[in-house]
Amino acid sequence: MVKTMQPLIIPRKGHSISRKQVNPNALRTLYRLRDYGFIAYLVGGCVRDLLLKRTPTDFDVATNATPGQIKRLFRNCRLVGRRFRLAHLHFKDEILEVSTFRAAAPADEVDTEETGHNKRPPRHLTDDDGMVLRDNVFGTPEEDALRRDFTINALAYNIADFSVIDYSTGLSDLKQRIIRPIGDPFVRFTEDPVRMLRAVRFAASHNFVIEPATWEILCALSSTIPRAAPARLYEEMLKLFQYGSARPVLNLMDDSGLLAALFPRFSQWLHGNSQHLILLHTNLECLDELFRSGTPPSPALFLAALFGPSLEEEALVRHRDGIPRQQALDTACAILMEEFCKTVCIPARVGDRLRRILTFQPSLHRMPPRRPASMVSRPEFADAVAYLRLSAETRGENRTSLEWWDAFLSDDPSAVCSEPSKNEAPAKRRRKRRRRRPNSVQAAV
Ligand code: ATP
Ligand code: MG
Repeated sequence: MVKTMQPLIIPRKGHSISRKQVNPNALRTLYRLRDYGFIAYLVGGCVRDLLLKRTPTDFDVATNATPGQIKRLFRNCRLVGRRFRLAHLHFKDEILEVSTFRAAAPADEVDTEETGHNKRPPRHLTDDDGMVLRDNVFGTPEEDALRRDFTINALAYNIADFSVIDYSTGLSDLKQRIIRPIGDPFVRFTEDPVRMLRAVRFAASHNFVIEPATWEILCALSSTIPRAAPARLYEEMLKLFQYGSARPVLNLMDDSGLLAALFPRFSQWLHGNSQHLILLHTNLECLDELFRSGTPPSPALFLAALFGPSLEEEALVRHRDGIPRQQALDTACAILMEEFCKTVCIPARVGDRLRRILTFQPSLHRMPPRRPASMVSRPEFADAVAYLRLSAETRGENRTSLEWWDAFLSDDPSAVCSEPSKNEAPAKRRRKRRRRRPNSVQAAV
């Protein structure tokens, strides 16, 4: 059972969250729930980020209204989710998630996978190791807060009096910049191994420290990360590497053992040569810079930045053994994707785009390029040039090609250094050699 304790309530004048910072759709939703007599809170990451004066990525609302009551109150509501019914409110250009307060699994009700063959499906289900498979019970606001992952993610903003409510140590951890799970870290990471990746992500993106005892347990449990569902791991991978903190994420993933558990071959390559880590750091720094400049990298580009150098190296070894360059790269990519299938479910189209980015490179390097205008129209072109830029900046390779393409793509055609049609003679066509007829035949004609 969850222990009840007095929450810390910070009145409006004691904190910095203003309604002006709250998404207008979220605000309207909170007001409507409140006006119909329901408790309505902003919860999770948005409260954390507002207190840190960061822009939240999304706004989540939690309430004591049941999914059915929410549906009756909002015409734009659709109920989703099999495990737990959630309300999605559809606005013109966004979807707002409204959830009914939930509770964590009470110990005496938890069924394990093997014993869970009752007449009614159990509301809570864990596997033999304690990983939660189903978690489906309404709860109080306090229970809802305490089932969340980290103390800094368990804060609530109450629309009734504009106060901030803290049922754990979220506010003091926020001040000290500490990532601390709610409850026993061993239990919480075992229930849901994805929380280990979330800990790393928040530490890297918010520049927080993972509480030392938690870090030790995270390192000890890192090898269990492949137990999480592959589709969730892919989603989390995107959040880890796409949003501006890829470089610190790589370090924490590597130090904790999460990287080796998810990508053993890649981790071996990374540690096979001290240059590899330096190269990847620079690659990921460029990726983070892209994000900061307002162009977040596509999933395929981040995969290329992370895995491209190892794949190219592997392909080069095969190429030296006599396999054509293109085929060698295809094989290296296919092996990587096969390895991924077991842990991180990368969609086939993203894997294919990664392969295309890499196999496009020789055509971009070729100076002058053949039919550049038609190359530009290929769907992977932008990512391929971004990868060329990464290689030019991190390995100093093919700078001339990059300059050529930058000039070609700029609006000023005179900036093109070596427009092939003007400056270069067209590539000579190889003449097919005619086989000479044998003399005897010639003589006979
Ligand atoms: P961001 O949206 O900035 O990536 P977030 O903390 O808001 O970070 P979400 O995935 O939007 O992350 O989740 C919203 C909230 O749901 C979290 O703040 C946390 O309270 C809770 N939550 C999310 N994932 C888990 C989990 N695996 N275990 C427990 N609680 C979770
Ligand atoms: Mg969020």
